[in-house]
Amino acid sequence: VKEIINNKPNVFIVTHKNPDGDAMGSSLGLYNYLLKKEAKVNVVAPTEYPFFLNWIAGNDEVKVWGKDNVIINKLAEEADLLFCLDFNALHRIDEVGKIVSNAKGKVVMIDHHQQPDDFADYMISDTSSCSTAEMVYEFIENLGDKDIIDGDIGEALYCGIMTDTGSFKFPSTTSKTHRIVANLMDRGIDHNMVHRRIYDSNTPSRLKLLGHCLLNMEVLTEQSAAYVKISKKDHANFNIKKGDTEGIVNYGLSIESVKCSAFFREDKDIVKISFRSKDDFDVNKFARKYFNGGGHINAAGGISKISLKETIIKFKKSLTEFSTIDA
Ligand code: 5GP
Ligand code: MN
Repeated sequence: VKEIINNKPNVFIVTHKNPDGDAMGSSLGLYNYLLKKEAKVNVVAPTEYPFFLNWIAGNDEVKVWGKDNVIINKLAEEADLLFCLDFNALHRIDEVGKIVSNAKGKVVMIDHHQQPDDFADYMISDTSSCSTAEMVYEFIENLGDKDIIDGDIGEALYCGIMTDTGSFKFPSTTSKTHRIVANLMDRGIDHNMVHRRIYDSNTPSRLKLLGHCLLNMEVLTEQSAAYVKISKKDHANFNIKKGDTEGIVNYGLSIESVKCSAFFREDKDIVKISFRSKDDFDVNKFARKYFNGGGHINAAGGISKISLKETIIKFKKSLTEFSTIDA
């Protein structure tokens, strides 16, 4: 890969659908690095992403599937290298998956989720890593290029590390993570700007939506769980935009006795679900088993194709079964 990178290649970077801070941060961090290596680089997002991620350097050049399909097809065909960042199974990038698997260039996966599929020519998978952005930092370091990291690369990577560690609080945060972040600060990043762009970007209606969710949160004492749901009606009432529901799932976990928190969002044809947990409650396993999903031990997601009401009944039943069979 180093040899290819040093030859000013055409590079195609793709991340998972519904990109989060780590998805866009790791992708644009690598993008800005490869630009400095004089590569021709493009970042592809399989779907739109939230407004609070639209400040990262290179954002205006990101190609989005659904809007830029013709060019995305062409870029994949021309690519010498295709990076798959922050996901480990091609179904996580929808239709772009077919394009990546048909491409002639070498595919490199860099990811930290559990149970990777075997689709890449070169795979860097580290489930102990706090974020893909941390892994991209180490990738750059291993290529001998730590010293060319600048503010743009650094702020993108910091965004990924900060969001995927819950601002350095999750157990995945290590002394190495803090050392990497210290290095990024030495390279001139504005960490306060990154934090404010992401966490102080609320609108009044988004805060009211949060209030509505917390007021209606259900706590399942017996199962040590809590959940929040958003119906199609809520979408209209609160004028919900992409990103507005991000992070709401975390509030359930702030209840001391709660080990598993869930968030259900009724979309057009499906219910999208987010799970968060504490300690050894394995939501990756839970989401895989019951909701066609996956992720990490303490943060995962899934989908449901039955109604919102039936999905919640299934959730409660699954919790009981899971605690007796898998605990
Ligand atoms: P979130 O709840 O923030 O959308 O996702 C939490 C974690 O679970 C992320 O690491 C994300 O990549 C993963 N995840 C979310 N939804 C799905 C899904 O439907 N399938 C799989 N395999 N992983 C998911
Ligand atoms: Mn990640």
